[in-house]
Amino acid sequence: MTELTRTTCPYCGVGCGVLAAPDGTIQGDPDHPANFGRLCSKGSALGETIDLEGRLLTPMVDNAPASWDTALGQVAEKFSAAIDTYGSDSVAFYVSGQLLTEDYYVANKLMKGYIGSANIDTNSRLCMASSVAGHKRAFGSDTVPQTYEDLEEADLIVLVGSNLAWCHPVLFQRIIEAKKTRPNLRIINIDPRRTATSEFSDMHLNIAPDGDIALFNGLLAHIADQGAQNNVYINAYINGYEDAVATARLSNPADTDLSPAELEAFYTAWTGTEKVVTLYSQGVNQSSCGSDKVNAILNCHLATGRIGKPGCGPLSATGQPNAMGGREVGGLANMLANHLDLDNAAHRDAVQTFWNSPTISDHQGLKAVDLFDACARGEIKALWVMSTNPAVSLPDANRVAEAIANVPFVAVSDIMARTDTGDLADVLLPATGWGEKDGTVTNSERRISRQRAFLPTPGQCRPDWDIVADVARRMGFSGFDYTSPAEIFAEYIALGDAAQRFHRDLDLSVFADVDYANLLPTQWPRNGARFFAEGGFYHADGKAKMLPISAPKLSQNPQFSLNTGRNRDQWHTMTRTGKAPRLGAHLAEPYLEIHPSDAAQIDVVEGDLVAVENTCGDGILRALITPRATPGQVFAPMHWTRQKAPSGMINSLIRPEVDPVSGQPASKTGAVELRKFAAA
Ligand code: SF4
Repeated sequence: MTELTRTTCPYCGVGCGVLAAPDGTIQGDPDHPANFGRLCSKGSALGETIDLEGRLLTPMVDNAPASWDTALGQVAEKFSAAIDTYGSDSVAFYVSGQLLTEDYYVANKLMKGYIGSANIDTNSRLCMASSVAGHKRAFGSDTVPQTYEDLEEADLIVLVGSNLAWCHPVLFQRIIEAKKTRPNLRIINIDPRRTATSEFSDMHLNIAPDGDIALFNGLLAHIADQGAQNNVYINAYINGYEDAVATARLSNPADTDLSPAELEAFYTAWTGTEKVVTLYSQGVNQSSCGSDKVNAILNCHLATGRIGKPGCGPLSATGQPNAMGGREVGGLANMLANHLDLDNAAHRDAVQTFWNSPTISDHQGLKAVDLFDACARGEIKALWVMSTNPAVSLPDANRVAEAIANVPFVAVSDIMARTDTGDLADVLLPATGWGEKDGTVTNSERRISRQRAFLPTPGQCRPDWDIVADVARRMGFSGFDYTSPAEIFAEYIALGDAAQRFHRDLDLSVFADVDYANLLPTQWPRNGARFFAEGGFYHADGKAKMLPISAPKLSQNPQFSLNTGRNRDQWHTMTRTGKAPRLGAHLAEPYLEIHPSDAAQIDVVEGDLVAVENTCGDGILRALITPRATPGQVFAPMHWTRQKAPSGMINSLIRPEVDPVSGQPASKTGAVELRKFAAA
């Protein structure tokens, strides 16, 4: 009988449990509380993606195979030399939500506590930084109040800026199954584009791009007008209610592009349903006003006390498998491990004391877009990219590739021999991939699960934590003598004890003395625990803040508005999913979703090639004409790389505009011109 290893899917933030075997057997783990045995198309095809074709199996220096000693010696030497000559802020790490928590922890410890810079940011900046900022502003901490079970207990689920059916499919399956047994459960989907999620929803509100603040400000004003606010909860636990409502009243409902009847239907449904979960994702976060959108949503839940209760509260769906784990160990340029703040001297002191480190950065580092801007300006002298492909995935991707090429020394750790970013590296470091490495990940509902190795280590590959720790030792630092991820996890939990005096619910004791090898999926602080139903927020007075949120002035786009996102069957730049033929069969090439009236305007029929252009770049995409698109708006997937389909690399057309609070890029509202390129 095939021996199955209990592990976790490496794709989205749902964090499904997987049973896997070296022969490619893949099953959903019936005992994992995220999926109870379910898997989506991507998870089901994992067994088809574990071959070694295209893998990086040996270190490379200047495009030639090298020993680990030579490669890591060069990384340590170049980083040390840059720091000695130009200072600690002249070096940077750019990491990934694909890293395991242990990898993240060690990389952050090296950069923040030993190098003394906070120039370590992550591609998770692109998926959920606005939610982090929104949580911190409202709650005083980046704490997710809800769990997946709340979706099954709600009477109304509002999905905002989320094509959950494609991007978090198992979570969506849970909702659809709940709907079968609970016919009164309603789903409202708010999205400027009609998607598979809209098809299953009871109501689709075809909102204007970035019209979310006007919508939720309108809802807050409606709550106040109807006397639907929870005065007991507000008086006990909330600051800022009056100001938030007064500012909300200034929003213009017309900015939503929704009819008065649609607005009334939404507001009535929301205020008339006690058990409401508002789940939001990239359509909210990836915006120049993403943090404000998050707070506009949180305001409505706080004003009504609809938070932290069964079936009732806001829930942000994280994009990547370990975006949440990265947040927990300070994996962003503005955070410290265990939900402590880089800006807080007492927090810095606690972490430095715990690490017994020679220094600790006393200022925030460069966030993703700023980090590559600094590369372009020549301010970064040594860059280490781990497990991600910014030359493709960041906005204005062509300029980012030039910026990386401008850095005097670039190291890239990856599982693949050829990536657009790896091709720009001086040193390539072969990392172990999914199925080959051990560690933990945390999903969107704060559940920590094990990824476990079930495959032999290929070639000379090494785990990311091991590579980083080796470089740290070569740079002369102590405190990196780890021999296993279990040791690193134990140190992270022990740091939780040190941090608990600042963050009383950061109770990681459930993990103390845990049998790491047999760790079961576990939520912190306790399995099934919820936050905030009875206050207990993390601002100094224990109250939450409702923020006055002004709706942005929406510019009338003179051309077409470009929305970007994911396909159902692909993950990021298709490093892994691109290997499974059945996944490629779904949508096999880059395409442009366009409304029939817009297609007619540029004289395009189904299958024609469309030239897409703006000041950042250009592309050529196959026209997919559909009434699901909204007139004036087009959609393109973001999976294709320069190497796979240069004319379909859509991030080359996204301006590097970011939310000023979170630094998250606005990847959903580019302005482009369209013209027919060639007939089908
Ligand atoms: Fe993997 Fe996400 Fe699919 Fe679950 S829903 S199997 S975590 S891709």
